[in-house]
Amino acid sequence: MIIGYIGLGNMGGPMCRNIIKGGNEVVVFDLNPAAVQQCVEIGGKAGASLAETVAQADIIMTSLPMPTDVEAVALGPGGILENAKDGAIYVDLSTNSPTVVKRIAAALAEKGVKMLDAPVSGGVAGAEAATIAIMIGGDRQAFQSCLPVFESFGKKIVHTGELGSGSVAKLVNNMLAFCNMTAAAEAMMLGAAAGIDHDTLSEVINNSSGASFAYRTMNHKVKKGDWSPNFAINLANKDMRLALQLAEELDVPMNIAPQVKAVFHAARSMGWGGDDVTALMRVYETTMRRSVRD
Ligand code: NAD
Repeated sequence: MIIGYIGLGNMGGPMCRNIIKGGNEVVVFDLNPAAVQQCVEIGGKAGASLAETVAQADIIMTSLPMPTDVEAVALGPGGILENAKDGAIYVDLSTNSPTVVKRIAAALAEKGVKMLDAPVSGGVAGAEAATIAIMIGGDRQAFQSCLPVFESFGKKIVHTGELGSGSVAKLVNNMLAFCNMTAAAEAMMLGAAAGIDHDTLSEVINNSSGASFAYRTMNHKVKKGDWSPNFAINLANKDMRLALQLAEELDVPMNIAPQVKAVFHAARSMGWGGDDVTALMRVYETTMRRSVRD
């Protein structure tokens, strides 16, 4: 069985390398040759083009930034619709819109290709350690066929139901995580402005009811003043946009999430879209003209 893997970035790269290390035959494709090389060095095969990568694959996987990137690779020229084998399974690991997922799946179904939406959670560290969660929507038989591959790069693997439900689970999770993260930034700045030492405050919070995964993640990066991207603000902004779109479609009132989205929008406007999501702290630091560590 051949896996065609497209999109070898911060998440896609380590996930793909774990699939290769699991003993699978993998053909890889990315616009960045250095990312391809890293997979070739451990036994992956470089695809000559997107079309050639797709054409030989029994399972095609993508991990791409935006829904428009996924749609271009799936339905655009030289992509999956044009080149996939009859009976191939397409797995999108990107964080995508459930509406876009369903549109792509409908087009591919006419060619005998089944699609699963399988977004992941656990960050770059989790992708490297093969401990990420994978939430998968779509045909159960296709899910079972791909399960050994999922097990080679993930730990908590959940079939969430019908196609699109993986994306829904992911967007709900990320909306919650980013609301928590923004609250953590606000709390840190309030503490700093009130004069409490940053490390003392974090010792208290980490042993109290305010602690969270989001707080710990934020604290780790803020402490080092390190905004290098594990998960870019641009991607987090996309997740908030897609979650709010879903809420709009379903007429669910959102009170907190739109304000958090505005913080991400501000960070992007200040030119930090490529920085790590924890750099949202800089919106507060710039407003207050001080660091939380001073
Ligand atoms: P990234 O920007 O680091 O990587 C994207 C990769 O796709 C790049 O290597 C780029 O060259 C490649 N690419 C883009 N367009 C392409 C095309 N047309 N053909 C071939 N290659 C193409 O992004 P990432 O952080 O790895 O995220 C990938 C997906 O995973 C996103 O949907 C993101 O929301 C999701 N995600 C990311 C994280 C994280 O912590 N970074 C966590 C969970 C989910």
